[in-house]
Amino acid sequence: MRVAMIGSGYVGLVSGACFADFGHDVVCVDKDPDKIDRLNKGIMPIYEPGLAELVNGNARAGRLTFTTELERGIANAEAIFIAVGTPSRRGDGHADLSYVYAAAHEIALAIKGYTVIVTKSTVPVGTGDEVERIIREANPAAEFAVVSNPEFLREGAAIGDFKRPDRIVIGTGSANKDGTEDARARDVMTELYRPLFLNRSPILFTARRTAELIKYAANAFLATKITFINEIADLCEAVGADVQDVSRGIGLDNRIGSKFLHAGPGYGGSCFPKDTLALVKTAQDAGAPMRIVETVAAVNDQRKRAMAKKVIALAGGDVRGKTVAVLGLTFKPNTDDMRDSPAIAVIQALQDAGASIRAYDPEGVEQARLVLTDVDYAADPYACLTGADVAVLVTEWDAFRALDMDRVKGLMKTAAIADLRNVYRPDEMARRGIAYASIGR
Ligand code: NAD
Repeated sequence: MRVAMIGSGYVGLVSGACFADFGHDVVCVDKDPDKIDRLNKGIMPIYEPGLAELVNGNARAGRLTFTTELERGIANAEAIFIAVGTPSRRGDGHADLSYVYAAAHEIALAIKGYTVIVTKSTVPVGTGDEVERIIREANPAAEFAVVSNPEFLREGAAIGDFKRPDRIVIGTGSANKDGTEDARARDVMTELYRPLFLNRSPILFTARRTAELIKYAANAFLATKITFINEIADLCEAVGADVQDVSRGIGLDNRIGSKFLHAGPGYGGSCFPKDTLALVKTAQDAGAPMRIVETVAAVNDQRKRAMAKKVIALAGGDVRGKTVAVLGLTFKPNTDDMRDSPAIAVIQALQDAGASIRAYDPEGVEQARLVLTDVDYAADPYACLTGADVAVLVTEWDAFRALDMDRVKGLMKTAAIADLRNVYRPDEMARRGIAYASIGR
């Protein structure tokens, strides 16, 4: 099947490469010429484990190509995916749909023959209706259907998630009262995902608006779970309990489940913060406010900056003129994505308190340079820690798990580590004579 992917970022590039790997002919389109140039040279514009091999292998096999020219990219495509960004709109928290609608306009003028247009971007309820309206208005003769197929992959494990998903959600509209348009679009989607049907991945066909809401409901629920355990961690600190054991104790209950119960510095990343806000706005507009999600967003926002207080306390109550070593910058390990990373808020709060920052991250420095100012970047964790007055571990990269703590103690000016991911054991740190603070223990 001939597929076009509009937007070749974390979602578009991974999805495009995986569809090519399924045997489809895929063209990845992006308006960023630098991205396309890199891809044509076999250089990945993002860091995602396994992506270079997957992309370059399928490109060599002739199933995956890249272009900046949308019209050329979608010529003859039977399915066109919209996988552009939907960031928070400045000022009000609604999802900014300008990239989605711009893509819809461009697609409208270029499609030929029956085409299924699939929104893979995370978009508020009703966006599919608007995409359909835009295309119909710009090209009344076009034969097409608009389908919602939200993506659930996680950065850092994106390829595995795409190829072995917990579920695939496909939401079709109802263009014709007799449902014929739906049936045709369903057939195209079924053909696209056939390898996963064969793998017995659960596929859920729903109405289009329902599919759009499923994505936000999933992210808001996960954000709530994280925020819940973070507040339990604060309570643990106040009453002398251990959040790791509480997590285990509740997570073994099948109704709760053990995932997403790791207390930390607050959720970040390119999805949860913007998607919770967008859901809150949708709910308010619909007159069905989601007070739990509103609170989750507010609690999480405060938490990230508050983490700096832990570091300051460990440094004896004052970081003015002191050097803080920051281990890990990305919002989670195995990605270079810095969008809404807790490290940004923690670092800015420490800088406001007068600290100098030296940081190390295995993959995130290129993007960190774009969002952080006055930060020194070290080439490895030990160089980062050398001479530091206090350290804070923000992202739990594997490289930090097995640091030689005796060496660390020798290198730091004062051996003190705030561990915002509970990577180390308090008794071990005490035994080595390292001042230590963690979350909820
Ligand atoms: P991204 O910023 O990495 O990629 C978006 C790309 O689209 C950019 O490269 C941009 O240049 C390109 N683009 C924008 N307008 C275009 C146009 N008119 N024509 C061609 N290219 C265009 O974003 P992302 O992280 O891949 O997210 C994309 C969508 O998927 C968002 O809605 C996001 O919420 C959703 N999503 C993301 C993840 C994730 O983990 N990143 C997971 C699930 C869903």
